[in-house]
Parts: sequence; structure tokens; C-alpha cells
Amino acid sequence: MIRGTTMFFCDKCGKIFSDLDIEFMATTLSVPRKCPKCGSFHTMPLGLLSMLKKPLYRKIWENMDKN
Ligand SMILES: [Zn+2]
Repeated sequence: MIRGTTMFFCDKCGKIFSDLDIEFMATTLSVPRKCPKCGSFHTMPLGLLSMLKKPLYRKIWENMDKN
């Protein structure tokens, strides 16, 4: 489900960009979007709440790297 657009942060290069906020498997997490600068999928929504969820995003990134 698309929740609109949000600001994303790239964990690789630090780029901040706006992209679609898509629900990740019926959770409050968002599907990582491709960084427009370095092409990495190691991205997550910007914000304090998201920062607290970073360990969860790390797991998502690890899974994405495997696929
Ligand atoms: Zn990047």
C-alpha cells in the first residue's frame, strides 16, 4: 500500500531524497527506495522514529543484498 511520499536517507552516501512511501509487508516500516545518487537500496525514511528502527532496516537490507 502506498502511503504517499516521504523523505528517505541513504545509509551509504548520506543523500536525502523524496520518494514513494510504500508499506513493507503490512508493517509500519517502508520499502527501501533506490538512492538516486549511488544506486544503493540501503535507504530508510528520515526521522527519529525511523532511526530507532534502524536495526530492522539493517535486516531488510541484508535480505535485499541476498536477492
Ligand atoms: Zn546513496
